[in-house]
Order: sequence, then structure tokens, then C-alpha cells
Amino acid sequence: MPKRYTITAALPYTNGPIHIGHLAGVYVPADIYTRYLRLTGNDVAFICGSDEHGVPITIKAKKEGVSPQDIVDKYHSIIKTSFEDFGISFDNYSRTSAKIHHDTASEFFKTLYDNNEFVEEISEQLYDAEANQFLADRFVVGTCPKCGNEESYGDQCENCGTSHNATDLINPKSAITGNVPTLKETKHWFLPLNKHEQFLKDWILKGHKKDWKPNVYGQVKSWIDDGLRPRAVTRDLDWGIPVPVEGGEGKVLYVWFDAPIGYISATKEWAAREGKNWEDYWKNDDTKLVHFIGKDNIVFHCIIFPAMLKAEGSYILPENVPANEFLNLEGNKLSTSKNWAVWLPDYLVDFPNQQDVLRYALTANAPETKDNDFTWKDFQARNNNELVAIFGNFINRVVVLTNKYYDGEVPTPSDYNAIDDDTIAALKAYPAVISSSIERYRFREASQELMNLARLGNKYLADEEPWKTIKTDEERTKTVMFTALQIASSLAVLSEPFLPFTSAKLKNILGHAQLESEPNWKMASEQLLLPAHHKIGKGELLFSKIEDTQIQEQLDKLEASKKANALAHKAVEPQKEEITFDDFSKLDIRVGTILEAEKMPKTKKLLVLKVDTGIDTRTIVSGIAESFKPEAIIGKRVTVLVNLAPRALRGVESQGMILMTEDSNGNLVFVNPDNKEVADGLKIS
Ligand SMILES: [Zn+2]
Repeated sequence: MPKRYTITAALPYTNGPIHIGHLAGVYVPADIYTRYLRLTGNDVAFICGSDEHGVPITIKAKKEGVSPQDIVDKYHSIIKTSFEDFGISFDNYSRTSAKIHHDTASEFFKTLYDNNEFVEEISEQLYDAEANQFLADRFVVGTCPKCGNEESYGDQCENCGTSHNATDLINPKSAITGNVPTLKETKHWFLPLNKHEQFLKDWILKGHKKDWKPNVYGQVKSWIDDGLRPRAVTRDLDWGIPVPVEGGEGKVLYVWFDAPIGYISATKEWAAREGKNWEDYWKNDDTKLVHFIGKDNIVFHCIIFPAMLKAEGSYILPENVPANEFLNLEGNKLSTSKNWAVWLPDYLVDFPNQQDVLRYALTANAPETKDNDFTWKDFQARNNNELVAIFGNFINRVVVLTNKYYDGEVPTPSDYNAIDDDTIAALKAYPAVISSSIERYRFREASQELMNLARLGNKYLADEEPWKTIKTDEERTKTVMFTALQIASSLAVLSEPFLPFTSAKLKNILGHAQLESEPNWKMASEQLLLPAHHKIGKGELLFSKIEDTQIQEQLDKLEASKKANALAHKAVEPQKEEITFDDFSKLDIRVGTILEAEKMPKTKKLLVLKVDTGIDTRTIVSGIAESFKPEAIIGKRVTVLVNLAPRALRGVESQGMILMTEDSNGNLVFVNPDNKEVADGLKIS
């Protein structure tokens, strides 16, 4: 029976692009689930959008010297485009800075306020007097009271996932100035989670939520068992949704209060556009609400948001929250700040038209029940050994042979033997097998069943050898090719949730759109999909081999990140002994241009340069040959210490010194005046 679903995917935070951890944890599984629901005839709203409020945005804006709006505009656009290019099929991708969201979140807050669902309290909060700023959320760092992690944020510890109040932190420090905060009185509105404890116990622990994933259920249970306390849902900040009640001046809604309401406002925006009623998707008991999130968001989606929805009173509650664990990269935790990630926009450039390869690699190795590791070698193996060697190879054989033997026309089968019967029975069972895995949120297992179907096809062809029987038994060959074409056709249909780009190509090759009724998931379980005499098209490569050099390039990128990080954390050399101004003014430093450069014979490190110093053209021997090719530096502007006493190096007199430094990767670079208006010979003082 068709059903109505509201599927939400965690709102990505707009302080950076999407990386593979986000994709594996949330967006790829959510997209597989949604595409599957649509294919099986359900009414689905697939909702997401950018989360644009909160402290990290304001911190980043301050750092870059731009406005918070500039930051969110930039990343909203990058994120939205890369999702589209990657084939994540949202019905609506909205943003929390949109007016419809501000209105929806304000209204939600007011309803709870009017229903006396908040506790209003003047309390002492952490305050940084130097920065003139209350310290909530990421403005404060300290020791987690639960696990002892010394870098916990004010609202959440990323190590143990605990959500707490900033005043709970042990040894708090301001993230702005590094100062130890003082306490200052301020008024806030609190959501009394303790008041909803019984409801949450009944709903989750005694209710039917035992079918939630063990990692999700376990975390929620431990939270409830620890006892719930009131949580402040407002903040003393200027970036966010203004608190819409009296006394709320200068305060905004806590980002975790407004963000989940973003699912509702994005649904409203979509429904208005599509001429639908949004309330069907949020207030009708027949609708199933499913939140796809990463494990760091469990508490917000399983405790705080349901408590908010319950307090409001007119909304449905989530049916399931299939949160994934974390994905690591090459054995290390993914990190935006350390640039230890595979960024989606980069992937789309480095591997054009290979979206399905990453979708498949992330699904086949998804962190569904435990943290998992993404390695480029595994990515290459998934492509070369499975997508190319099994799926692609099978399709290629079927299409090439059909064109070769029958000019692209599906042949008419004659008698089926027992092997054909078994193969067709197995084929028709696949839709139910894959459905069952998807409906239990086991996408990894589902992707492997899809590959097993391609294996079935490969084995069938290898056993029946139509390329041999074509010479001896034409009728048998027709039956074999007919059966193989049915497997190819089912693969086209059943691969759509996992490999949407490949599925579209394959449907096109097989001419699905030209059939009387276009094959779908249900038909694949009930009948053979391609009738005799149907004409298929020419082959087209579905997957191509990924070479070692491509993988090495990616590993080199990561190695560069590692180096840059090591360098950033390297102890800075201590300052040298103090000098007088007179000492400094003895140095004669000039702007110059390199005119000639040659390697010093029989040395590794030395280059002999001719440099125009503005005063004269002189010879300088410089130990930079390992970092620069001579021909690459001719014409470079450099800074030269010109009054250094000449000295002979390997018999060549060096008359000065070129000033050098290191870039963030540890490579030598010139200290150079980029401005061409600066004439050679000008003094640097
Ligand atoms: Zn902790």
C-alpha cells in the first residue's frame, strides 16, 4: 500500500563544504531510502536545507572579516550545487536564513511560550568581559563533565556526544580571548526536558522504538536514565532568529531550537510551490517521519526535538531515526579544521561523471553499526573489482552480444531448462530481498544484494556460454540471451536507488522508455521486463577502471594536509636576542630581479644566480636547487641582502643573500615584493 513519508536529512552547517563523512553518514542512505520509496509508489517529501545560524558562523565571519550573511551565502551555494551534482534528490533544499523559516520558528516559539511550556529564568551565565560577550556553545571550551574530554564545547562534547549547559563545563575558557570567564546574570527561556521525561520514557523505552538501531536506542536510553534537565533555548547573540517575546531584545533562539524546525519550514516552502498541503506531511498520523542524521545529532532528534513537537501538540513524532556512526579517512578521524577530508566539490572535479562510484563505495562500506574507515584503495577496488568487473562486464557482454547476434532485437526464447527456471526464479526474488534490507535501513547489505544480482548474471553467461552455443545451437543461444537481457533489465530498475546515474544510462541503452509500460520495482518481482522483438540500443561504458595514478594523487593530497598540519603545530622558533635600531639599519635590503639561474656543477643544493639589484647586476650563490628549477625562477622578484660580506662557494664568489621563507607545506618560497610597481633597488626598511 502506498504511504506518505516525510524524510529529513540533517541540515548541513554552512561553515564549509560537504565531505565524505556527511555523505556516508546521512545523505547517501537518505537518498537511497527516498528513491526506493518513490520507486515503490509512495508519496514522499525529501527535505533538507542549510543550517545558517549558530556561533561557528559568527566566529568564521569575524576571522575572515566579512558578515555572517556572506559566510552562509557562500557555503549555501557551494553545498546546494554539490548535492545537485551528486544526485541527492531532495524535493526541497532550503535554508534557515529564509523568511519562511524565521516566521515558522518564531511562531513555534510563541506557541510554546503562550502554552507556558518554557521556564523563564534569570541565571548566571559564563561571560567574557574583555570580548563583552556571553559564552555559550562554541564560544567556550572546557572539560566535559561526563567523559573528561578537555576540548568540549559549551553545548556539546564531540567526544562522548553528551549535550550539556555551558555552566556544566569544568575549567571553562573563552574561545574568543582565552580568558577564564566570569559569571553574569542574564534572562533565558528554558525547555524543561524533565517535564517530558515520562513521555519520552513511554514513547521510546516502553513504546515501539526497540526496532531503532541499537546505537541510537542505547544512547537515548542512557540519556533518559541519567535524568533530564531544563535546557536553555535562547542565547545572548546577535546572529540568529530574534526571540519573539517581551524581554527577548538582543537575544536569539538557540541554533538547535531553530534548526530542526527548518525541516518544517522547508516542507512548507516545497508544499506552497507544488500546490500541496504541508500539514499532511507533519500533522497527519498516517505520515511516517524519518530523520537521517549522524550520531552526533542523536540527542537533538530523539529527545529535544520530539519534546518540542510534543509540547507544541499538533505534530507527529519520528517513526525512526536511523543515525549512522562516523566514517574515518585512511585511519584518522575526519576533520574540517585539519583539512583531513575528501571534499565533495573536489571529488566531482577529480572524478567527473563518477558520482555512482563514490555512492557505491560509501554504501558498501557504510558506518551503519560501527565507525568505519574510508580508504582510497578500497574505493579503487570497489570500482575496479565490482562495478567494472562484475556489473559493467555483465551489461557490456549482454548488450554487445545482442547487437552482434540479433542486431539489437531481443530474441524469442524457446524451451527453458532447469538452470533457466532457477535463474528466473532467483531474479524475481531480488526486489523483495533488496526491499527488505532497505526497509530495515541496512543499505550496505542492500547494495551487496544488488551486486549479487549482477554476479548471478555473470555466472549464468559464463556457464551457458552463448558465444560458444551460437555456433552449435541457435535456439539455445536465443533463450540464454533472452534470459540474460531480463537480468540486465532488472539491474537497471533495482540499481536506481544506489546508482541513479548508471540506472538512467542503462534504462536508456535497454530502451525502457519505449516499452508499453515502463518497468518498475513491482514489475521486476512479477514478470520478465523485456519482451521478444523489443529493440535495444548500442552499448555505452557504464564504469571505467580507476588507475593507480589517480589514487596516488588523492593520497598525495592527504599527505600534503598532514604535512601542513605538522608544520602548523611545529613549535615556532624562539625570538633571537634583542638588537638596536642601529643594528638593523646596518642591513641593506633591496628589491631585485633574478636575470639568470644555473645549477652549480656537481652540487645538489646550489644555484648560481645573476640578480639585478638596482645598484648593479651581481652573482649570488643560493642553496635553493632542491626547491626550484633554474628556468622556473628567471624573472622572479626577490628581496636581497646586498651588503653581506662576499664569500666564495665552490670557487664562485657570492655577493649577497636572497631572503627565503617556508610556505605552509614546508616548501621554500621567496620573500618577494609581488607589486611590479616596486622598482629594483628600492630599500626595504
Ligand atoms: Zn564528553
